[in-house]
Amino acid sequence: MTSLPLVFEAPRRGNPPRHFADLDPAARRAAVTELGLPAFRADQLARHYYARFENDPAAMTDLPPAMREQLAVSLFRPMLTPVRTLEADKGTTRKTLWKLHDGALVESVLMRYPAKFKNGVQVRSDRITVCVSSQAGCGMACPFCATGQGGLTRNLSTAEIVEQVVAAARAAAAGDLAGGPGRLSNVVFMGMGEPLANYNRLSAALHRLIDPAPGGLGLSRRSITVSTVGLVPAILKLADEDLGVTLAVSLHAPDDELRNTLVPVNTRWNVAEVLAAADTYVERTGRRYSIEYAMIRGVNDQPWRAELLGDLLAPRLAHVNLIPLNPTPGSEWDASPKDVEAEFVRLLEVRGVAVTVRDTRGSDIDGACGQLAAAPLEG
Ligand code: SAH
Repeated sequence: MTSLPLVFEAPRRGNPPRHFADLDPAARRAAVTELGLPAFRADQLARHYYARFENDPAAMTDLPPAMREQLAVSLFRPMLTPVRTLEADKGTTRKTLWKLHDGALVESVLMRYPAKFKNGVQVRSDRITVCVSSQAGCGMACPFCATGQGGLTRNLSTAEIVEQVVAAARAAAAGDLAGGPGRLSNVVFMGMGEPLANYNRLSAALHRLIDPAPGGLGLSRRSITVSTVGLVPAILKLADEDLGVTLAVSLHAPDDELRNTLVPVNTRWNVAEVLAAADTYVERTGRRYSIEYAMIRGVNDQPWRAELLGDLLAPRLAHVNLIPLNPTPGSEWDASPKDVEAEFVRLLEVRGVAVTVRDTRGSDIDGACGQLAAAPLEG
């Protein structure tokens, strides 16, 4: 008997099972104590999970076999099942489609930016970044984004977020990316979903990522970027938490009239309010934020918009990250021509605003920004 294609499988209801990665250190000790185990086992499990990226108790051979079985059902149920992995950019980009416990689908993308040398001197170290999803689908409905077209399925649990990062760290360490084994260095919340619409689980996941190893993954705060459409109250809450992660704001237009259509939540919190919240964030962290701006041909790439954007940002501690639009199926929109993009960059730079243009990593496997739609296997 052949199994039905994924597309016909209706998502089942119910919360994701509780997982070790959901728990902070105190809750981990409580959980193992509840299972009748001594509290020190919690630290032993943390070492397996956060330092060795081991999520299968069967492989934790320093634990008694009965305990491994007990842990497998109570704290280490599989959260993510790989459905498919696609490679691009000569093996330096890998996109994985994951199935969650209820059949919901999400994607994450692992990317290596190899060390760069100039005249024999290293100017950039080897960087391995994972782009993770915070929700299955997204409710923000930005018309140029593939994820936005399907609507929101549900929030991911903390463990479903952390497991994407741990899987990436494990793949990097195993040498699954071209260039050999390496260490996961960066995490960007630029996959599916609006991270700040899933605030509590995001926040808990951030703690798991930055807590020093082996209590957590021990990633540096600044190497973690949370990208948002601009949910003002949540930006302010994140500022209050003082986590020190990097903030990225998806602006895409400097004027409310256009931004209302490109980022519909702008009708709730407008450009001025979003930038004010980002400024508050920066006052707390002392680190500049980035403004994401997808360059859409003939839509938001006019010189007057570059001038307006430059004037808005010149007095602020922000830099602009231009993203050539990655076309999505069924949309007539396209990326801006290179000369238009160059002029946009120039107009920002003459106003003293720092600009970078993001590469379109993974675009040939629909793994670039805004292309994550978690489409099940074709055919
Ligand atoms: N919800 C978060 C994360 C989204 S993905 C946010 O909106 O910030 C990360 C970035 O990719 C966002 O800036 C998003 O607007 C952008 N993006 C979405 N679709 C895109 C596309 N088709 N081409 C280029 N960038 C896109």
